[in-house]
Amino acid sequence: MRPDDPKLKKLEPPRLTFGDRMYLPQIAAGLLLTAKHMAGVAFGNKAITVQYPEEQHVPSPNYRGVHRLNKDDQGRVKCVACMLCATACPAHCIDIVGTTAPDTWPDREKYPASFVIDELRCIYCGMCEEACPVDAIELTGLYDLTGLTREQMIFDKTKLLSVYDATRDAEPMRYTAPPPKTAATEALPSPIS
Ligand code: SF4
Ligand code: SF4
Repeated sequence: MRPDDPKLKKLEPPRLTFGDRMYLPQIAAGLLLTAKHMAGVAFGNKAITVQYPEEQHVPSPNYRGVHRLNKDDQGRVKCVACMLCATACPAHCIDIVGTTAPDTWPDREKYPASFVIDELRCIYCGMCEEACPVDAIELTGLYDLTGLTREQMIFDKTKLLSVYDATRDAEPMRYTAPPPKTAATEALPSPIS
């Protein structure tokens, strides 16, 4: 659109009052809000923090945490190495090496010989699971996995499949609570080794 186009509507910024220009009312309103929160925490038991790990944080139902690679009903990795997730990933943190599927897998041509996600580089946008045509990759509600080194947070196929084993009964993206700590979840090393 040209700058002199008659359809262009020019908006003028609102004129600030004397009080607005002083900024003091805004500062006072901010301090009042902070004081209200402090009073709520001190006297009203309205703390928004939890005593982790004794108390578990409940993430939002649409929270996206660490990935899992799903298995099919035969226990095989569901991924068909189409590379769509790696192509869609804006952070370029998925690295897949596809290879020809075994003759005993007639339902697909390829599968991932290697599947690596750099969980430190990921921005947990969910584009990979949106792109996947076979629902092989999903983000889970797991949020408390840690690593002592960068290498520990680079998840290979084995780790991603182990996340599936630990969360197989959960429905990612529909969490109302973190997945319960099970033997499998506890077995997920945190930091993962
Ligand atoms: S969640 Fe987003 S950034 Fe992370 S691996 Fe998937 S597409 Fe990439
Ligand atoms: S996880 Fe899904 S999108 Fe990514 S390569 Fe495998 S089948 Fe394709």
